[in-house]
Amino acid sequence: MKKVLVIGGGASGLMASITAARQGAKVTLLEKNRQTGKKLLVTGNGRCNFTNRNQELSYYRSENQEFVKEALKAFSADQTVRFFEELGILVKDCGGYLYPNSGQAASVAEVLRLETQRLQIKTACNTEVLSVEKKDGLFYVKTEGWTYTSDAVILACGSMAAPGTGSTGDGYRFAESLGHRVIRPLPALTGLCASQKDCQKLSGVRMEAKVTLQIDGAVCIEEQGEVQFASYGLSGIPVFQVSRYVSQALEEGKACEICLDLCPAYKEEKMIELLAERAEGTGNRSGTDVLLGMFPEKLSKVLLERAGISGKKKRKDWTQAEMQSLVRQIKSMRFTITKCRGYDQAQVCTGGVPLSQLKGISMESALVPGLYFAGELLDVDGACGGYNLQWAWTSGFLVGTCAARDGVKSQ
Ligand SMILES: Cc1cc2nc3c(=O)[nH]c(=O)nc-3n(C[C@H](O)[C@H](O)[C@H](O)COP(=O)(O)OP(=O)(O)OC[C@H]3O[C@@H](n4cnc5c(N)ncnc54)[C@H](O)[C@@H]3O)c2cc1C
Repeated sequence: MKKVLVIGGGASGLMASITAARQGAKVTLLEKNRQTGKKLLVTGNGRCNFTNRNQELSYYRSENQEFVKEALKAFSADQTVRFFEELGILVKDCGGYLYPNSGQAASVAEVLRLETQRLQIKTACNTEVLSVEKKDGLFYVKTEGWTYTSDAVILACGSMAAPGTGSTGDGYRFAESLGHRVIRPLPALTGLCASQKDCQKLSGVRMEAKVTLQIDGAVCIEEQGEVQFASYGLSGIPVFQVSRYVSQALEEGKACEICLDLCPAYKEEKMIELLAERAEGTGNRSGTDVLLGMFPEKLSKVLLERAGISGKKKRKDWTQAEMQSLVRQIKSMRFTITKCRGYDQAQVCTGGVPLSQLKGISMESALVPGLYFAGELLDVDGACGGYNLQWAWTSGFLVGTCAARDGVKSQ
């Protein structure tokens, strides 16, 4: 029977273990936390958005998109749904975003744990792997009290995002020690820190907006959704979605600016008309009262300040230039980004082990036979919306299938 050792009991490691055991391999799963699936518990705000019906390739980012495409064909979102339904999850579809009907991420972690139990997978929790070596065709996996040996090793240690859940970058270290190149992991799906002092005044404001990221003055990507203003800068889903590009651009020494369109439904000329129409009834108002009903008060105040309009000046006394300046702020409120929030605030990391170092979608290392990689440790990061977990399920399934079938068998 093939002996497979899986390092890391997160989403991809659990999927890999279950798949390998179903193929008849003797699986041992090593997890440094007290329990498996710790990160799963915090996904989707504790509800676990475990995949998405809309599977466009552009939601996955990697140096090797074709590889991702092929992998997703081999284990798709539909297969993920069937897999979880068979384990007892009733699926709730929220506009294509899929959750367990229980509304509890813990259900997902628990059905996976129950399945590992049913398949008699030996799960060693509180077991931190310290090193992985290969000698004479066999792997030696060292922990504090024991050295495990096996024919195949699956590295599923995650990235460096949310290290409190156990993913502290060990997988990159193991991959490098076995001769692999690692693309420097950077925080993604996270908030952005801005240099503007008025961020302090906006803290707590939420506003629907179109978010445009400009890198060295050129438009890189646009997203729309609810922006959350914070004392350090900007947060919220549309900001998370652009953050991976910010991380990479800042790493390359480029300048990043976020431009918010706070009224995407109105073009600039329409906005001027709108403000002019409103002036008929509100001409005697001044300061934030003019923008009452359009923006939250804190935001109106900052917009007027940035437009250089005194809070005391009545609307009817505004000059044309002041009006235009305000419209510019509404349509294009700018923030200079100094950095992304750190790994501890990130949901995922960009970078990791390049897919070019794998033997295709067998997920086996092209450098070390019998060594496999799964999950976020690889150079694939997804958009918000269930794509990162889909990658964990897809890569976990492929790696479990191939590690169980191929290679040398123990006596
Ligand atoms: C707050 C938050 C919310 C998220 N929400 C979503 C969402 O709703 N939908 C979505 O698709 N994605 C979401 N993600 C991303 C998603 O959770 C991850 O991409 C996914 O869990 C990665 O799975 P993984 O198996 O690669 O790594 P992980 O889940 O990080 O698992 C790695 C495991 O390896 C273990 N490990 C590491 N080093 C060692 C070692 N030396 N020895 C033994 N064990 C080790 C760790 O303890 C950990 O359990 C979210 C992430 C965060 C942080």
